[in-house]
Amino acid sequence: MGFLAGRKALIVGLATDRSIAWGISQAMRREGAELAFSYQNDRIRARVIELAGELGSTLVMPMDVGIDAEIEAAFARLREAWGSLDILVHSVAFAPREALSGDFVEATSRASFATAHDVSSYSLTALARASLPLMAGRQGAIVTLSYLGAVRSIPAYNVMGLAKASLEANVRFLAADLGPKGIRVNAISAGPIKTLAAAGIPGFRKMLHHVEQVAPLKRNVTIDDVGNAAAFLCSDLAAGISGETLYVDAGYSHVGMSFPE
Ligand code: NAD
Repeated sequence: MGFLAGRKALIVGLATDRSIAWGISQAMRREGAELAFSYQNDRIRARVIELAGELGSTLVMPMDVGIDAEIEAAFARLREAWGSLDILVHSVAFAPREALSGDFVEATSRASFATAHDVSSYSLTALARASLPLMAGRQGAIVTLSYLGAVRSIPAYNVMGLAKASLEANVRFLAADLGPKGIRVNAISAGPIKTLAAAGIPGFRKMLHHVEQVAPLKRNVTIDDVGNAAAFLCSDLAAGISGETLYVDAGYSHVGMSFPE
């Protein structure tokens, strides 16, 4: 029996079979969780339905996390179908393309700042609030995805770094607020992985190459690495962990200096 047997998990942020959310979904399913999915818009609807089907799920709902009415509708559907929820996976981020190229000061407009923080950080608060009634009386777990840009400057990551810093603070405040209700909230700070979202970051291939050279494990991480860590964090194996940002990055973030040959 898997360590998530009997758990019900909502996966938010699946787009393709390269998505980090796909690695998480596969790991959680393997460990026995029942899955529901949301998708951002009609462009990816068919693909998400197909991927969900591969993991035995037919509960697939539209939800743009920037629209309160869509969040309400998705959770109403979840309540009707399941009546409860154990796990929320938040694997969503967005910043306008022009904010992710060029110098930080020039590229960061008021509008792109607001959008990046709304979609990439505030949405976690909104989804946690919507999950609360469904997690009541259960050992709930929430996990979100961050990146090193939250705590270090990274070329071209720009305003997304600020949004990730906000997201990691969000995790700590949610953990404090929801802990007494039995809900744990954690983040995974993943190393770079080639996904749709990553394709929007200029120089991404250079990032992958750099990590491979410098990280103690001398490789990049995979969606399976991240998926396994997320499954662990949302299971009873991690019952004592909340408010944490867990680095799944082949050790890269712990290197102070390195002299690749
Ligand atoms: P992805 O493109 O596969 O997933 C991003 C998801 O965000 C997509 O499913 C997209 O539909 C969704 N999304 C964006 N705006 C949305 C909105 N308004 N409403 C609902 N959904 C919305 O890319 P990914 O790399 O798997 O990204 C998942 C998470 O992992 C993101 O938070 C990202 O910042 C984070 N992350 C990625 C990397 C990486 O290198 N790929 C590294 C660290 C952290």
